[in-house]
Amino acid sequence: MPNELFKIAIDAGHGPETQGKRSPDESLKEFEFNRVVAGYAQERLLKFQGVETIFTHTDDRDVPLMERTNAANDWQADLFVSIHANAYQDDWNEATGIETFVYKSLPTQAVKLATRVQNQLLQLTGRRDRGVKGANFHVLRETEMTAILVECEFMTNVQSCELLKSDGYRQLCAEGIVNGIVEMYGLELKEKSSFTDVSVQHWSYAEIQEVADLGIMNGYTDETFKPSHALTRAEMAVTASRIIHHVKESIRQNTTIP
Ligand SMILES: [Zn+2]
Repeated sequence: MPNELFKIAIDAGHGPETQGKRSPDESLKEFEFNRVVAGYAQERLLKFQGVETIFTHTDDRDVPLMERTNAANDWQADLFVSIHANAYQDDWNEATGIETFVYKSLPTQAVKLATRVQNQLLQLTGRRDRGVKGANFHVLRETEMTAILVECEFMTNVQSCELLKSDGYRQLCAEGIVNGIVEMYGLELKEKSSFTDVSVQHWSYAEIQEVADLGIMNGYTDETFKPSHALTRAEMAVTASRIIHHVKESIRQNTTIP
């Protein structure tokens, strides 16, 4: 979607003190999970060209549902994504898995997006598939754009609740949601790597880019970096020497070493 704005309303369900929306032992409030995943999703989405986001929730109160959908409609969002953690009854039980909801009329675009997001979430987390389902939820009914609602595991299952509390699982949920959106709408990253074999998603992308920018390590003439190749002793000596020169030069110029 080049040169075009793509507006995504991100909705963390409920609020910090919403009655009942917590694990049976009260160790996890649903909103805490929802808001953190919403934050991670926003962070990731803003790395893509043309993407703008708003939150329809706030951290200080449970924004009424009508206010949330009005905000998204008034802003003319292209997409509405509501993030939740699930619950089954009030006490600990065996219900587990991830499910994604669309409005009960099963709008084509929403079903397509929900399917992609659901598949990405399952792939990344390995959790049980509860499927894509239709429901008459306010945020799906009253939104004028493609809208989905994701339920990322159960607060009422002992193991799932531990997952929902972990930062790693929250990151994976955000990644799954964003990957599904990126895949469906063909979003492209703003930042381009200098090397054809080091994507901006590579675990050491930032460090590779930094040493390349400083001239400490170079790529090859075919625009690759070959991140998994071993260094020879000679190459190590050249690299170490460049680091020493860089540090000395930084000190000489009385600047702080980056
Ligand atoms: Zn919820």
